[in-house]
This record gives sequence, structure tokens and C-alpha cells, in this order.
Amino acid sequence: MKITRSKFLRMAAGAVAYTSLGRHARVFAAGGRTADLVLTGGVITTMNDAKPFASAMAVRDGKVLAVGTDLELSDCIANRTHVIKLAGRGVSPGLIDAHSHPMAYGHMELMFVIIRPPKVTDFDSLKKTLSHAAKSVPEGEWIVARGFQDFKEGHFPGRAVLDEAVPKHPVLTIHWSGQYGVANTAALKKAGLFSADVEDPYGGKFVRERTTGLPNGVLIHYPAIYAVYKPVLNEQEMLKCIRWAVQQFHSAGVTCIHDNFILPQYNKNYVKLEREGDLNMRIRLYPYIANLQQAETVLAKMVHYRGSLVRVQGIKLAVDGYALMYESQPEHQHIALPMHPQPIFEQIITAIHRGDWQVDVHAAGDKGVDWTLQAFEKAAGGVRQARERRHRIEHFAFRKLDSIRKAAEMNVPVCVQPTLMDFRVDDFTRRLGSPVKKYMGTIVPTRTFLQQGVPLAFGADVPAFPYFAPLDSIRCAMSRKTHSGRQLDTTESISFLEALKVHTRGSAYAAFDETELGSLEPGKTADFVIWDKDLRNVKTPDDVSNLHVRATYLAGRCVYQAKET
Ligand SMILES: [Zn+2]
Repeated sequence: MKITRSKFLRMAAGAVAYTSLGRHARVFAAGGRTADLVLTGGVITTMNDAKPFASAMAVRDGKVLAVGTDLELSDCIANRTHVIKLAGRGVSPGLIDAHSHPMAYGHMELMFVIIRPPKVTDFDSLKKTLSHAAKSVPEGEWIVARGFQDFKEGHFPGRAVLDEAVPKHPVLTIHWSGQYGVANTAALKKAGLFSADVEDPYGGKFVRERTTGLPNGVLIHYPAIYAVYKPVLNEQEMLKCIRWAVQQFHSAGVTCIHDNFILPQYNKNYVKLEREGDLNMRIRLYPYIANLQQAETVLAKMVHYRGSLVRVQGIKLAVDGYALMYESQPEHQHIALPMHPQPIFEQIITAIHRGDWQVDVHAAGDKGVDWTLQAFEKAAGGVRQARERRHRIEHFAFRKLDSIRKAAEMNVPVCVQPTLMDFRVDDFTRRLGSPVKKYMGTIVPTRTFLQQGVPLAFGADVPAFPYFAPLDSIRCAMSRKTHSGRQLDTTESISFLEALKVHTRGSAYAAFDETELGSLEPGKTADFVIWDKDLRNVKTPDDVSNLHVRATYLAGRCVYQAKET
């Protein structure tokens, strides 16, 4: 019998459970269960349905040893045991961000010029910000800026607008989503693209001037952006970006991140930090591939690395950037392009599936989602076979019931970003016409996903999105309000504890981590958060705004402690 990697992992998970049971049996036989750490007198929200709340938890060797009442766990305390008195505070499992990009987040925040609203809202404010930045950069060197949303002018600027502000430096500005960019003339020249015969890269497009045929500076999709500029960080800089981002996530209670957009050659940075004992974060990697040829090269080379913190878990690709919809606005058709022709997209998915990796697809639009589900089914050879492989979808923004049911039937984990409602829906509604506007009320349909049985996960998606803290996703999933305070369809709201479950167990499941992470029960990893309040009292979005992380623990070790206020 051929044992596939996924089968092997399931068998291995069973073996681990058996071994840890054996070890505990020996401990009990020796007449003690002394813990390294015991938390008492609090309210532990375990996310274990069989025992959802407890007042005490014991930890040994980085794992949960026992969960129960203070009295039940009193025998876990010996002289060497560190005891934390919670004084009524809450504890939850460590939060798992199922979609973010720590290295890119650090890169943007530490090294790019930030051009997000409210700082940049129109061409004038963009020009001011760029020319100010140019003053401190030697002539001829790159200026990269990221974060613009829509401009008051109603369209992207072209290279001429950027040239007015910065004529002598190559400038690349990148949209908040990372899907679009605008380069100035110096940048196009430096990249060798300033010619009417330059060819569009696969999966991307250089928008042209009608009269001359020259690129007008607007870049559609990553391949066009990367053709102009590729990140040029050295290893030390990359490690610095990761360390910085990890600290931000710790302060928000995150203990595991799925990085599902990293260039395959950069996996090694995470592995290096782990080997040097300098990471303190669980990372699941899904390196990104841009085309079939790259898929084949990566599949031939990539190894199933499994460290105690870092794991190469799957392969990421995109079916769309801007949502690929059945109905789209004529003025958006030039940016709502599929990343691949459908037959090639299916071939790539089949190749990854056969390579025994989990497939992870960026699919925002309703048509993009349907292409993806269809490709998963074809690659697996049926719905039942697809269920086992748990190929996943990122974003899945719209409530299309037949697609949601199909995702549930095929056990496809879906990772959504509830903060989309806060920071984008006002803008979408103002700018988009009737075909797309009608979907806005039920955008990010969390209740329907859960009701239909879709394995749901949350991820902040920084730096594409402006918020990195899980509590922002949770708050938005509860409130469903736009930034201006407009109420979206509340039938899609979920409660605090439901959202917390999505951000712990749900996100663990999306990367096959459910036997080790996501809930606090004996034998599981002791990744947890101490909050300043009892989580049972968190009922409203305002309660979430007033909830704070006191400390974050990874494998029983404190990795973040809030300053006393
Ligand atoms: Zn992303």
C-alpha cells in the first residue's frame, strides 16, 4: 500500500497521542504529576467542548498536563513549580493567524514609505508624501511605497503624476492589497520596461497609453510589480523584519502564523531563526508560485521540513487578485483578470495535489471560488477524496450559497478577513455599481459558513490589510459595521466565543494542527494567552475593544508580558 504524506501525518498524529498517554501513565505510576507551571484562580476558556471552562491549568515540558479546578490540580504544585495566580482573569489558547505575512509586514512597516489613508487620499497628498520621502534618498535609488486605496480622482495615477513629484528616483507605489502598483518613468526605465514592445508578463499586465503604446505606469498583479521591482533585502534585513513582526503578533496574543505568500527561496529565513533559537512563533509556510513552470520547479525541490516551530505546509497560488466575478463592472474589467487561463490553473492544482502538498488558493470573487472548488474536485478525483486533503481557500468574500455548500461538502477550509468590512466596504459601496453592490450586506458571511459546516479560519492578512490583531477580526465578525458606522447584515454576525473558536481551533484545523494546537487540553501544546478579563463577560464589540492581552505563552514559556498600567 502506498502511504501518502497526508496519510503518514495522520498516522503519526495517532502515534504521538499514544506516546504521550504512555508517558503520563508512567508519571501517575510514579505517584506524582508535578508541573513546571500552574495557573490558578482564573477562568480558562479551553475551547475543548467536553470541558469548556476551568479555573486552573498545569503545564509540563511545554504541554498541557491537566485542566480542572484549583483543588483538582493542587497535587501538580511542588516547590519547583512556578504558580501564576490569575485573580479572576481569563486565559484562552494562543491565537492562530491563518493568513499573514510576517516578513513582508516587517518589510513594509520598517522600510517602505507608508501611503495609507488618511495620509494619502488623492494625487496631491500622494505627491507630497513621495517628494518628502525623496529628500532623504540619494538620487537614483529606489523609493518603494505601499498602502494606497482608492483616490479621490476615481482612478489610479499614471507615471506622469509620480514623475511630477519624483523625477529622478525610481518610484514604485503598491496598492494596499499588493495586487496593483504604479511606477514612475525612472522605475520603468531602470527595469528595462519603458518600451512600446515590452511584453506583458504571465499573469500580469502593463497598462498602456493609447497613443504611444508605452506603459503608463499602472501595473496589474504581482508578476507586473515584480517585473519592475523585486525585494532586495539581505539576510540580516529579512531576519530583522521577521523578528519585528513576531513581536507585534505576540503583543496581540498570536502564537502561530500561516505565511501564505512567501517566495519559496525565503522559507530558509524562518528555518534559520528557528535553528538559532530566535523565533518564538509557530510558522506554517505556503510558498507562492506564479505559474505552471515554477510549480514544477518548486515541487521538484521543496522538502517537507517539519521543525518544532516551523513547518513547510503547502503551496499557495492565486486564481484572482481583484475579485473575479460572474458579473463585473465594465470599468473594472481590465483589473478583474484571472491569474491563469482556467485549464492551466487546473493543471497547477493537480500537480501540487499529486506532489502530496496542501493546495492553498487566493480566491476572492464568486467565479474565482467556483473555479477553485472545481479544480480541487478534479485533482482529487471526487468529493470524498478531496475531503481528506483539506485544500483551502483564502478570502472567499461573497455569500453564494451553492459554493459555500460545495466547500462544506469537500471539507475545504476557508480563511476570511472580517476587517474587510471595516476598512473597505464604505469604499466599495461608494464606487461600485449595482452588480457588485448587492453583495455588500452579506460580505464575509461568517454565520452561513459555520451553519453550512465549512471549516472556517481567520487571518489578518497584514500587510495587505491594515490591522494585525486577532481582536480586530473578532470585533468585526461580531459588529459587522463599516468604518463610517454603517450596519451590514447582522444575520451573518457571530458571537465572541464563536469567533474565538474560529481564531483558535478553526485556524489550527486549516493547517492540520488540530491534534496539537487550538485548544487547552492534556497532551496539547501549552500555547496560551492571559487576558485582563474573564472572557465569559465579553459579549459586545465594545467589550472586545476593552479587552487586553496581559501575557502570551508559547510552549509554556512567556514570550510577551504587557507593561503594568
Ligand atoms: Zn495575503
